[in-house]
Amino acid sequence: MNVRILSPDLYTYGAMLIGGILQDAGMEVTLARSAGPCEEKILLLSLYSTQHLLDRRIRDCVKQHRENGGLCYAGGPASTAPEMVLGELGVDAVVVGEGENAIVPLVRQGVSAEIPGIAYRDGDRIVIQAPVPPANLRRPLPLIPDDIGSQSIRGANAYIESHRGCLGGCTFCQVPRFFGREIRSREIGEVLREVRAFREKGARRISISGGTGSLYCSHNGKLNPGAFIDLLSGMAEIMGSANVSAPDIRVDCITDEILDAIRKYTIGWVFFGIESGSDRILSQMGKGVTVSQARDAVEACRSHGLKVAGSFIVGYPTETDEDYAASREFIAEQCLDDVFVSIAEPIPGTPLARLVLRTQRDENPLFRPDKGEYRSFGLSIAEARCFGMMMDADMYKPRLHVITDQVFDLYLKEARKQGAEIRAVTDLLYRYYGSNLQPDCE
Ligand code: SF4
Repeated sequence: MNVRILSPDLYTYGAMLIGGILQDAGMEVTLARSAGPCEEKILLLSLYSTQHLLDRRIRDCVKQHRENGGLCYAGGPASTAPEMVLGELGVDAVVVGEGENAIVPLVRQGVSAEIPGIAYRDGDRIVIQAPVPPANLRRPLPLIPDDIGSQSIRGANAYIESHRGCLGGCTFCQVPRFFGREIRSREIGEVLREVRAFREKGARRISISGGTGSLYCSHNGKLNPGAFIDLLSGMAEIMGSANVSAPDIRVDCITDEILDAIRKYTIGWVFFGIESGSDRILSQMGKGVTVSQARDAVEACRSHGLKVAGSFIVGYPTETDEDYAASREFIAEQCLDDVFVSIAEPIPGTPLARLVLRTQRDENPLFRPDKGEYRSFGLSIAEARCFGMMMDADMYKPRLHVITDQVFDLYLKEARKQGAEIRAVTDLLYRYYGSNLQPDCE
């Protein structure tokens, strides 16, 4: 059986993982980053963003493949809204949730009521068969493409999975909804075997994925710093510490020994999802931490000689001018080494998606016109906040950054792009679910 996996723009870990499983089951598998004519009988789409449902290149690719008599299945995080994937892309089936158990029987037998974890059309009806997560996280090596060294995701060629799940319950995040809140960790030997395989294929820098790296091997909410440190030191032994990063960490999931290990075995950066400088918004986001904890975490990293990046979310449906001002103040006061700003995106399956659908469109900052200092640009409030925060973040970086016309235009373009894409996704949600997005998503 010949299979092509399309992982739009990036070779995601999930696409490589599924490729490895199919190859191990005796199939010929090709991994592609760009949508084009597909010679193989089966086309698998690895959809890591809801935006992919609106991507003309992907829609055309599926259409053409099916017109040529091929079969097309989709999986990945976007499968949380199978109705939307089936409706928008017209694929034959969607692999729902963790795909390891469903993918081989689906490719071999085609759509069947016997296969758990798939969704498909049966006449006018959409059938969704509940997924069965894998009993353990052992599996064959991923299918690593020869040009893996050519891609850069925040500086790393690939993000390797160390565990699944997150203890957090952030309302905007898909991780706990897709993988659950219990931490399931992979054996260290398995992870390191993969790191070696990536290095042999030409990867020069590897990062750990998993939402919050330091939750590796944690149990019942208790961190296991020793296991995390062993993982980092093992990775550094293979790749060299200048080629390992373990960026994403919760501000309440650090200890002195963890920070020391990050300095010793990685490039020395920590990436915190700070999200907001307002306790009111953090509480509404279900972040489970306070601004003061975020401040302490930044300080702790600095005292361990680490650089700190932070991500912030603007345009949360309930964010007020005061909340936004508090976030700007946090950025000005902390002078973070790098800052990433995103407009709140209602990812299907998250409580934020429900909140957005319950919010009147003319109350949603993503649709309300900005009347503030950037009104002449015709932005929405969310876009104006995104733009303003990117400008602030540059201004307060420890090293001097000059905001040239080029940088100004770049940020303006980025804010507009985010706004347009997230409005399109929001409209899609309204179209499919009205104000009744999956009642079980909270
Ligand atoms: S801590 Fe990070 S991974 Fe966990 S739920 Fe929150 S945003 Fe998601």
